[in-house]
Amino acid sequence: MPALIPNPLRQAIIERAQHRCEYCHKPQIGFYPHEVDHVIAVKHGGATTLENLAFACFQCNRYKGSDLASIDPQTNLITPLLNPRRQRWHTHFRMEDARIIPLTPEARATVALLQLNDSTRIQERRVLQVQD
Ligand SMILES: [Zn+2]
Repeated sequence: MPALIPNPLRQAIIERAQHRCEYCHKPQIGFYPHEVDHVIAVKHGGATTLENLAFACFQCNRYKGSDLASIDPQTNLITPLLNPRRQRWHTHFRMEDARIIPLTPEARATVALLQLNDSTRIQERRVLQVQD
């Protein structure tokens, strides 16, 4: 069950994220509103505080769910997902013609689990001219 996020906290999260998804950088526009993601899910002991919350688009939040790790497709090792509170996006990814290029094991696991380079998502980023 999703935790209730008080409005001032939600606004702080949105502004910190510059109104875009902290995983795929999609701006907050479109049919499905972005959501507040617990980076470490409540069921794993994550708190509903600014330090553990991220702004995520509907798709990224659905694919991530309460997961903390996935498989790095290059090494087949269990690998933590990107933690947007502790890691900088630009250290782990770059954008190339709307495709999100993973630069680290955490990034590869995140791209795979969140299906960041699904063809419809790449197409959407092209149309929206999403920048890295
Ligand atoms: Zn996203």
